[in-house]
Amino acid sequence: MILHLLVVALVADSAVSLDTTKTLTSQLHEFQLNNSAGVMSALDMMPKECSKNGKKYKPDESFEIGNLRYKCQNYGVYTIEGCKRKDGTEMKLGESVVVDNVKHQCLGMGSSVFYKETTCGVMGQPECDKIPLPKGFEEAMKKNGGKTETQGKTSVDGVNLPKGWSLVDGGKKQITGTNASVVTHILMFNPTQTRVRRDGFKGSGVGSVIGVESMSADQIGKPLSSKGVSSSSSSSSSSSASSSHSPPSSSKIIGTQTVGATLQTIKKGDKHDSDLVDLNQRNDHRMEGSENMKAGSVHGSKSNVDWKGRKVIVNGKTVAKHFKLLVVGGGAGGLGAASKFARKLPRGSVAIVEPREDHYYQPGFTLVGGGLMTLESNRRKQETLIPKGATWIRDKVQLFTPTQNLVKLRGGEEISYDYMVIAMGIQLRFDMIKGAKEALETPGVCSNYSPFYVEKHYREAMNFKGGNAVFTFPNTPIKCAGAPQKACYITDSILRQRGVRDKAHLIYATSLKRLFGIESYLKSLENVAREKGIDVRTRRNLIEVDSNNKMATFEFLDEDSKPTGNTEKVEYSLLHIGPPCSAPEALRTSQFADKTGFMDVDGSSLRSKRFPNVFGVGDCMNTPNAKTAAAVSSHLKTIETNLSQVMQGKQPCMEYDGYASCPLVVSTNRVILAEFNSKGAMETTPFDQSKPTYWAYLMKRYFMPMLYWNGLIKGFWNGPATIRNCSRMIRSK
Ligand code: FAD
Repeated sequence: MILHLLVVALVADSAVSLDTTKTLTSQLHEFQLNNSAGVMSALDMMPKECSKNGKKYKPDESFEIGNLRYKCQNYGVYTIEGCKRKDGTEMKLGESVVVDNVKHQCLGMGSSVFYKETTCGVMGQPECDKIPLPKGFEEAMKKNGGKTETQGKTSVDGVNLPKGWSLVDGGKKQITGTNASVVTHILMFNPTQTRVRRDGFKGSGVGSVIGVESMSADQIGKPLSSKGVSSSSSSSSSSSASSSHSPPSSSKIIGTQTVGATLQTIKKGDKHDSDLVDLNQRNDHRMEGSENMKAGSVHGSKSNVDWKGRKVIVNGKTVAKHFKLLVVGGGAGGLGAASKFARKLPRGSVAIVEPREDHYYQPGFTLVGGGLMTLESNRRKQETLIPKGATWIRDKVQLFTPTQNLVKLRGGEEISYDYMVIAMGIQLRFDMIKGAKEALETPGVCSNYSPFYVEKHYREAMNFKGGNAVFTFPNTPIKCAGAPQKACYITDSILRQRGVRDKAHLIYATSLKRLFGIESYLKSLENVAREKGIDVRTRRNLIEVDSNNKMATFEFLDEDSKPTGNTEKVEYSLLHIGPPCSAPEALRTSQFADKTGFMDVDGSSLRSKRFPNVFGVGDCMNTPNAKTAAAVSSHLKTIETNLSQVMQGKQPCMEYDGYASCPLVVSTNRVILAEFNSKGAMETTPFDQSKPTYWAYLMKRYFMPMLYWNGLIKGFWNGPATIRNCSRMIRSK
């Protein structure tokens, strides 16, 4: 920024001077103009205050506009003192710092100052020391040719000009039709801008110049545009001369001009240099080869942000907290995914949104309900499980706005992301059974699915005196579909151990048409149920619990699992509810959901069908696998590869194999270690896992919890595929 003042001096008594000597004309003129009194009187005619963007500032007054810091000098000119970072920290001209993976450059060249923020040193972005200079800055340097600004006289007749002001000879011009000539002088203010160090500015990269104060450097040294004088005049042009065709009478200021653009804050829709691109201006683009992609889905990281998740400010407006990877849900899948990527990405790049303070190892609930483990041993504080370098946001996602890569939390805060993993699990919907919520608070009613009612199962089994013990399976998707019958078998064992089995009528009432969906294990389970004398009732869905009369009402279902209209009432002494489930509300009402409410993903890559920067993990997806923690291990393996590839701008190539597992606890010391996908068994060991065994029980009781806490949620356990391949070789021999 520079204020230009041109003083065009005309001969005080032209006739005399012009007549005196032609050759000396310019000298004469120059002499007259260089008279310090003439220059000082010219300065006196200058404005006393600075004016910028419609506001006035007094000499020595500092002010800030956008990212630039200004100071008003004498005679209406202001200087740019430096820049100001988003967090309020001041920067000097020529300074370049990296703070939390954002490089801030405050560069001055010629009459332009550039402030630039560039994300660097994170995956998909250049190294911080390879961030290039802003393009405009380099151009300004070229124009300057590496020279310092135009030098002029800083004193006239031994009298010093005010600091920053100098007098420059602008050249001589013949006045047409006369033998006189006019000498143009420029009284100019030239705040010397420090040349920046070039060290560390090399290589290619991306960035966003978000504040530029600029005036054309090439205007320095040219005549002013002023009232009545064309701004396109140059020192050798005739415009200033033509305005002085009348005989010059005295040195005078014919005009002043403030040269310099107002602060350029880049707004959405502005057309500007490709380097001057800000967060709002970036072109989101589709990724190749994916279907159903929505415009607005982004590829790659393009944010000028603080990766620690502090504010993202675009054009002075706080948009949101921002993370490279946002993981929604801190259960088995969410922690596993966050752990994997927290190790890959720089500190602070990953955040987990999870409202719960306690994290439970849910597969342990079956054993808790059977008195074989304590609930406490299956619980950890969430804060102790958050991977190093990741941020825990203890809140709940209330609204997804995937077209803007934004989520809104229950607390009102907005978080933006480059990539997201949705791992919200499945929501227990006791509310879908009339009276169930109230009944859970009454004697006899329990559920292994909830940490609040799981211990009650064991208490009820131990207190059972006789009557119907009813175990239900809902008419919705459910996590660990084997869990309701596990509860039934364990209760049978407890009642036998207590010697009261003969007083009990155990009913397993399921919405399904058979005990278990996977053929390989069906026979074994039917044998177990028969041997235990369990009354298996299919196509029955629990719709109401009347806890006052201890009565459970079931509706009958047809072949398509639709209610037939007929119902059955069953009196209970013990009722174990396998709750209906749905996708969590925020998900099922979002653009990620299919018509069932679950996350609509490509079943192979686990990528959202509509938003290619978003992946799913775990129970919340619409994949056909059984919803188990075992399946999560394979999901994690899949997205680790696929999301990493997408982050690098590549196509996902890993395919989820559909693996799931359900260790079916058939007594207090026997387990059928079911492992399968929708096509059939996928057993890991060389043994027949469809048989109830003690070793499988030991795996379930001791090995699997260890694997969960130390492997799965830490992102180290990718499922048993490799072991399975080895054991297949043993089997085949
Ligand atoms: P979860 O682990 O349930 O985590 C989901 C997380 O998302 C939760 O912490 C929740 O608070 C959070 N969340 C929800 N909504 C929001 C929101 N709006 N914003 C932010 N966060 C949100 N699996 C097996 O492999 N073997 C077994 O033997 C087995 N037995 C089981 C027995 C029982 C009784 C139960 C209940 C489950 C069992 N499972 C078993 C299933 C296993 O626990 C789940 O499949 C697994 O936990 C799924 O992981 P997830 O990350 O998808 O969901």
